[in-house]
Amino acid sequence: MDVTIFSPGIYTYGAMLIGGVLRDAGHRVNLTRAPEVPAGSLLLASLYSTQHLLDPAVRDLVRSHRESGGTVYVGGPVSAAPEIVLGELEPDAVVVGEGEETVVRLVAEGVSNALPGIAYIDGDHPVVTPPAPPASIDRALPLIPEDIGSQSIRGASAYIETHRGCIGGCTFCQVPRFFGRKIRSRPLDSIIEEVKAFAAAGATRLSVSGGTGSLYASSDGEMNPEAFVTLLRGMAEVMGPRNVSSPDIRVDCITDEILDAIRRYTIGWVFFGIESGSDRVLRMMGKGATTREVREAVDRCREHNLKVAGSFIVGYPGETGKDYQATKDLIADLYLDDVFVSSAEPIPGTPLAGLVVKTPREKNPAFIPHMGEYRPLDLTESEARCFDLMMHADMYRPQMRLVTDEVYSAYLAEARKQGQDIRAATDLILRYSRS
Ligand code: SF4
Repeated sequence: MDVTIFSPGIYTYGAMLIGGVLRDAGHRVNLTRAPEVPAGSLLLASLYSTQHLLDPAVRDLVRSHRESGGTVYVGGPVSAAPEIVLGELEPDAVVVGEGEETVVRLVAEGVSNALPGIAYIDGDHPVVTPPAPPASIDRALPLIPEDIGSQSIRGASAYIETHRGCIGGCTFCQVPRFFGRKIRSRPLDSIIEEVKAFAAAGATRLSVSGGTGSLYASSDGEMNPEAFVTLLRGMAEVMGPRNVSSPDIRVDCITDEILDAIRRYTIGWVFFGIESGSDRVLRMMGKGATTREVREAVDRCREHNLKVAGSFIVGYPGETGKDYQATKDLIADLYLDDVFVSSAEPIPGTPLAGLVVKTPREKNPAFIPHMGEYRPLDLTESEARCFDLMMHADMYRPQMRLVTDEVYSAYLAEARKQGQDIRAATDLILRYSRS
């Protein structure tokens, strides 16, 4: 069968993985980042953001393909809330959760209530079949597109999956809900074979995916630093150390061995999800780490001559002005090499989404009008904090970045865009929570 996998904007690892699985099942698979599908091809939309459900280009593609008699299945992280996908896009079915085994059966057999791990509309009613068991972690090579070398996601052509799951329970994150809290690691040989295939296809840099890089091969909460070091060394032997990154790591999942390996076998950056400078907010977020641990982790990275980036979330429901000031103070103290700021986004199926449903709009920073120094800009409280923190972070970094008019406008536009997306996601979640 002809199958088109549509992955909006970027070739995600998940879309490439599904492509490889379907190719090995005997289908002719075309992977595309653009919203287009040839007539006669089955369309599989691999969607990783709630915003895709609201995107007119995605909606039009699904609608027009179905109207012309084509079949459309939707999978990816959005499948965590299948009723929203069914309601918004009206595909033939949703592949729920880890889809690489379910999708092969779905394409071969069609929609049936005997198939676990799917959702579809029967008459007027949504049907969600029982969950499929977790997919095998040992599987075929992904379908790597010829132009993979042209892709740059934070500098990497692709983020490859070395393991699934996270021991953490951050309330805003989908990973432990989608993949579970138990770490399931791929065999090293299979990862290295895949790295070689990416290199042969022209990938210029590869990164280890997920927020828990150093948990590779860990078991029952016990880290396995030796396995992680071997993994990075193996990747560097294929790609060259300047072409490997392993950025995302928990502050409580580092050892001297791990940091040494990051310096020797990668571009030498560590990326921590720090989120807040307020221990009260970190507790609300279920982050499982304290600001003291953050400070210690950053110091330790510096001792190993690593550059450190951090991400922060503002506008979490319940974050006060005092909490926000603590985040600014922490950034001023840490002097991070790079900072990423985002407003708290409720992803369907996460505890944060549940909290947002219970939080009245007049208490949700994503909706509260900002009445402070940026009042003339007509921002919400989340947008104002997001904008302010981006500019603040630029003043407290080893190489200060001047906030020119251009940078100011870009930050303002980014804060507004995030605010708009979050309000749209919140409205969507509220609408389905009522029904
Ligand atoms: S540590 Fe990272 S991957 Fe794990 S739950 Fe928290 S944000 Fe998600």
